[in-house]
Amino acid sequence: MRYLIVSDIHANLAAFKAVLNDAKDEWDFIWCLGDLIGYGPDPNECVALLREHKHLSLSGNHDWAVLGRMDLYHFNADARVAIGWTQSVLSDETQEYLEALPPRDRYAPYTLAHASPREPVWEYILDDRTAAENFNYFDTNVCLVGHTHVPVIYEWADNVGVRRHEPHYGQAIPVNTNRLIINPGSVGQPRDNDPRAAYAVLDSEENTWEHRRVAYDIRSTQKRMSQFRLPFRLIDRLEHGW
Ligand code: ZN
Repeated sequence: MRYLIVSDIHANLAAFKAVLNDAKDEWDFIWCLGDLIGYGPDPNECVALLREHKHLSLSGNHDWAVLGRMDLYHFNADARVAIGWTQSVLSDETQEYLEALPPRDRYAPYTLAHASPREPVWEYILDDRTAAENFNYFDTNVCLVGHTHVPVIYEWADNVGVRRHEPHYGQAIPVNTNRLIINPGSVGQPRDNDPRAAYAVLDSEENTWEHRRVAYDIRSTQKRMSQFRLPFRLIDRLEHGW
């Protein structure tokens, strides 16, 4: 089976469409690692588009916030505005769908978690030490995470510890090796100084993973965000990738 791996779409429909188009006919099933909404201008449309395809999705911290499951003091002022706006436009259908999603799941030999296997809603795996600790919190060979919006691979090797690998775009790498924590990056709001949408393709028969990037019409997303008076900083950051 070939999986299209997406995370942190964040209601950015133009970015999500570009990913689906870029990977056309190259996958059988979508795994979405959460944060479908929050930040961007098209929450209902993004969820509807995901649901048109065979897929499985997790929920993330922004999904939880919009559903009223978490206190908004955890979020910065701009994120809070976006969450409030999203709540005001969320359809009953989208809400019902999001309510049913778990933040963590397991499909051996893969574990899926929005943030980290230890703290699936909240924890940011941004350094080797946090990654190393998290290898104790899942029992499969590979754990896929999103949340940081930064594509990366952490490899665990006995006697060596954690090694961090930068993504090699468009290059399939084996995943039936040492244990791995892999982040595909963010579709809708990349934060690694590359504004292109990030995603990945996982082939469970070949046991390979491929990080990918695709340019999308950033202006169209920015225009819609301006129309809805979403915070300038959230609009601006899309073209810079931070
Ligand atoms: Zn996110």
